[in-house]
Amino acid sequence: MNQTKDFKYVYGPVHSWRLGMSLGIDPISTEKKVCNFDCIYCQLGNTGILSNERKVFVATDAIIREIEMFPSKEIDYYTFSGRGEPTLAKNLGEMIASVKKVPDRKVAVITNSALICDASVRGELALADFVIAKLDACDKGSLIGISRPADGVDFDSVVEGLKELRKIFKGKLALQVMFIDKNKSLASEIAELAKQINPDEVQINTPLRPSGEKPLDETDIEGLKSQFIGLNIVSVYDAEKVEFSPICEKNTVLRHGKYKDA
Ligand code: SF4
Repeated sequence: MNQTKDFKYVYGPVHSWRLGMSLGIDPISTEKKVCNFDCIYCQLGNTGILSNERKVFVATDAIIREIEMFPSKEIDYYTFSGRGEPTLAKNLGEMIASVKKVPDRKVAVITNSALICDASVRGELALADFVIAKLDACDKGSLIGISRPADGVDFDSVVEGLKELRKIFKGKLALQVMFIDKNKSLASEIAELAKQINPDEVQINTPLRPSGEKPLDETDIEGLKSQFIGLNIVSVYDAEKVEFSPICEKNTVLRHGKYKDA
């Protein structure tokens, strides 16, 4: 396999402020972005296929084969993310279990939480070591305004699903809040929900990579952090910046956004 061009499903590794060195795994890997959200700030552009239907996009064996062929590098997390929402892959649980057959491998999943109301999705996420779940809104209206979800995504069920995941999940649960102008006034309501969900960590983020929305500045983010007092908070501006060299830059930009401009 050509090390620079031929990986179709894995990308990076990238250095993530939340995960350290992360090998990205894209269980959707379609040309158009497939997601159950179309967030106004998405760093991957508009959602090509807005769908809330789970299906198998890539066979588990094909993903595992690529992971095993990836040039050995120091990896902190094998991270399911990519160009779309990873929980839309119906074989996500099978893929996580397969990756973890190798001792000492740690798996992370970055999810938008839209399908977390589904007990089978929660069961699959619970196989991971680290789940980073999005919470950018505080009610149905703000979810529609920021995330423009597919039909069938219900805000209250998302929050209940996060609370249920917390009950069964033995790994690390983080809530990620992406703050932009449109939701910064909702910080105290989002913080209240976060307290009810009781994550191990709250990640305060703002889109530093190129997107349709301007990032908030450090002063704004510092002010928002004060709303989350009592929770374990990390923020994108507090993170150490680390240079990294992905194996295939084009594949990585497609899934991760333009990291070099961040
Ligand atoms: S930010 Fe994530 S959840 Fe939102 S549209 Fe982009 S890929 Fe989907």
